[in-house]
Amino acid sequence: MPKTTLAPDHAKAMILAVADAVIAAEPYLSEADRNLGDGDHGLGMQRGFTAVKEKIGTLGAEEAIDKIFSAAGMAMISSMGGASGALFGTLFRDGGKALAGRADLDAAGLAAFLRGACDGVQARGKAQPGDKTMVDALHPAAARAAELTGLSLPEAIDAVAAAAEAGREASKAMIATLGRAKTLGEASIGHPDAGACSVVVILGAMREYINA
Ligand SMILES: [Mg+2]
Repeated sequence: MPKTTLAPDHAKAMILAVADAVIAAEPYLSEADRNLGDGDHGLGMQRGFTAVKEKIGTLGAEEAIDKIFSAAGMAMISSMGGASGALFGTLFRDGGKALAGRADLDAAGLAAFLRGACDGVQARGKAQPGDKTMVDALHPAAARAAELTGLSLPEAIDAVAAAAEAGREASKAMIATLGRAKTLGEASIGHPDAGACSVVVILGAMREYINA
């Protein structure tokens, strides 16, 4: 049964499902980073989400939904290292902060999460859409979510995940001006950004969990 709202226990289960999906995607993410960067992205994400799983397991049943996502982000920041650790950790930490005061996650909560996540990542990394970074998947996802706050959560996450996929695909044609491939110039054309690939894996796993 698709879930129309996520209580804190569901949010924890969803983050664990996201972690498993990211860990399983290590070869795909490593390959994506090898095409444009140093190839360490998949292993870094695997390390970060292994720490996330450990952290989620220590949270009490009374933990509020904003704190669950923020704790996942902090676990990534303290375990992954590098630019990806700071940026993907910020995605979850600041997305979580934007859920403060909410008892559960619905479509409006998803939009708040993604707005906070994208604003936080952009403030930290200074990337704009078009720079060929994770923002090229995250920004369209956040923009789509903001249009869909009246929909059910399963409908909203479907559209949001599709927007992230379209953003990842669009990043193939971009010339990197920031991030892992900025020194490659036109040689960066043809491959998607690895961070955008990770955003798609994360939102795709959320879609799968919510719609299961
Ligand atoms: Mg790298």
